[in-house]
Amino acid sequence: MPDYPVQSSPAITQAQQVLKQTFGYDRFRDGQAQVITQVMQQKDVLVLMPTGGGKSLCYQIPAMLLPGLTIVVSPLISLMKDQVDALLTYGVNAAYINSTLSSQDMFNIYKGMQDDKYQLIYVAPERLMQLDFIQRLQGLTISLIAVDEAHCVSHWGHDFRKDYRLLGQLKGTFPHIPIMGLTATADLATRADITQQLNLQQPFIFKGSFDRPNIRYNQITKYKATEQAIAFIKQQDGSGIIYCNSRRKVDDLSIALAKQGINCAGYHAGLEGAIRDKIQRDFIQDKIDIIVATVAFGMGIDKSNVRFVLHFDLPRSIESYYQEIGRAGRDGMPAEALLLFDEKDAARIRQWISTGENLERNSVELQKFAAMEAFGEAQTCRRQILLNYFAEYSAGHCGNCDICLDPPKAFDGTVEAQKVLSCVFRLKQSVAGQYLIDVLRGKQLKRILEHGHDKLTTYAIGKDKSDAYWHNIINQLIHRGFLRVDITQNAVLKLTEEARPILQQAQKLQLAVPRLSLDLGKKAQFIAPDYDRALFAKLKYLRKTIAEQDDVPPFVVFSDA
Ligand code: ADP
Ligand code: MG
Repeated sequence: MPDYPVQSSPAITQAQQVLKQTFGYDRFRDGQAQVITQVMQQKDVLVLMPTGGGKSLCYQIPAMLLPGLTIVVSPLISLMKDQVDALLTYGVNAAYINSTLSSQDMFNIYKGMQDDKYQLIYVAPERLMQLDFIQRLQGLTISLIAVDEAHCVSHWGHDFRKDYRLLGQLKGTFPHIPIMGLTATADLATRADITQQLNLQQPFIFKGSFDRPNIRYNQITKYKATEQAIAFIKQQDGSGIIYCNSRRKVDDLSIALAKQGINCAGYHAGLEGAIRDKIQRDFIQDKIDIIVATVAFGMGIDKSNVRFVLHFDLPRSIESYYQEIGRAGRDGMPAEALLLFDEKDAARIRQWISTGENLERNSVELQKFAAMEAFGEAQTCRRQILLNYFAEYSAGHCGNCDICLDPPKAFDGTVEAQKVLSCVFRLKQSVAGQYLIDVLRGKQLKRILEHGHDKLTTYAIGKDKSDAYWHNIINQLIHRGFLRVDITQNAVLKLTEEARPILQQAQKLQLAVPRLSLDLGKKAQFIAPDYDRALFAKLKYLRKTIAEQDDVPPFVVFSDA
């Protein structure tokens, strides 16, 4: 961690008084005093602090100390209102300007600005950049422009807003006014982009620790996801958020949960605004336990007692993932994050990203997604991977993720692998995972009998194990690059060249003992091996596959199980 010395100065002494007298706090949190010092000296600043870290005071206190008006850009109407309401209760003069105001209110606020009535004005980006508003501001003394949720300015962030792009012109319009960008997530690429887009001039960058030690990171292989979600929820106490990647899944899952008597509501951008607001309010007031939502839910929601965040689907970047799980446990009490990981989801997302029109953006997004995928696949401390991703280095193990608490155990999985791979071969590399499992387990299904696949030598060679077991083994073989999911062809499984030596008995293979359920009661401690950086570089979908006609002799043939 770099050191950020705070020199005591008249400005800091004053800031400390405001902190105590207005907000009632005794001490600054990590970074606040440093940031305030810099702003008071008219410097541009980029503040990276996790959610709940105390970003607001970084501009609210200077707003009260500096002569003139502080403009705060905020992406959400609800966020502005909450902040302004809170400031008013502290006796700070603040107001917001957005589309909910009547023209009379608006007039009054403009008049108040003219009369130096306010210390802070919150405004939506599109309003701020309107010519008439800029003109109004040019007649006033502006002390600072703060851009909250600054990652919205970046295409590479996870929450890009078109209107934020306009903010790039601010520096040109107000060259002498310091600009402060604030965000809770920004990897190195997004960070550089924010600085560039906002035109920050040699900014002072403060980056707090992104570690949230009270959140336990867990991941299980997705398999019968709805049942897994229900089982997980039943182990939980209190509020939670479940993220899905489509509106349809939100609807389906919330109905399925409600049928189990779970007090939940679905939330996505397809719902009417008034309904969304009500759901959000009910959740905050603990009238709804669980929100099933798309990524549309969460920004700016200040609810401290969210006990878990469940990812039903794979997010597209570690930035989004971190932001979403960060909504759990803001009160500092233990909280759970659970990711249902599925290689098929990953293949689909990759495909989807690659079809984007902007090639440079596709490439950045693919890299970001590769890191997310590696996180899901990892067999080493998950916290370390997350922190590394935000360029924060930590010791080898955290003791509070599924990997640290229950290290994967290896076994000689050569025979299991041979069973799966030879069955894929016998099925002419033309079936997807579930069909493969059905054949391995010797199910007497109509479609199997119709195709005569019950006559294959590999039929029923895996009947001693469960569906979930084989699903997990197949996934490991995909992760390790022995199988490839061909999503251009209904997700059928193909053999890669790496499969050949396994099938020819020329190579043994260690696999992890499948973890079929999540034991949240576990409290072991251990030292994890160093994080495997190579994972990030792995682009396994580029592996060469074995041609269908190729018969790879001598194949291992299981005639009997
Ligand atoms: P962020 O915007 O970084 O998510 P907020 O600015 O909303 O975080 O602050 C989160 C909470 O922390 C608020 O309730 C705020 O009052 C509190 N807080 C901020 N600074 C301090 C401090 N120095 N001491 C105690 N509490 C603080
Ligand atoms: Mg904030």
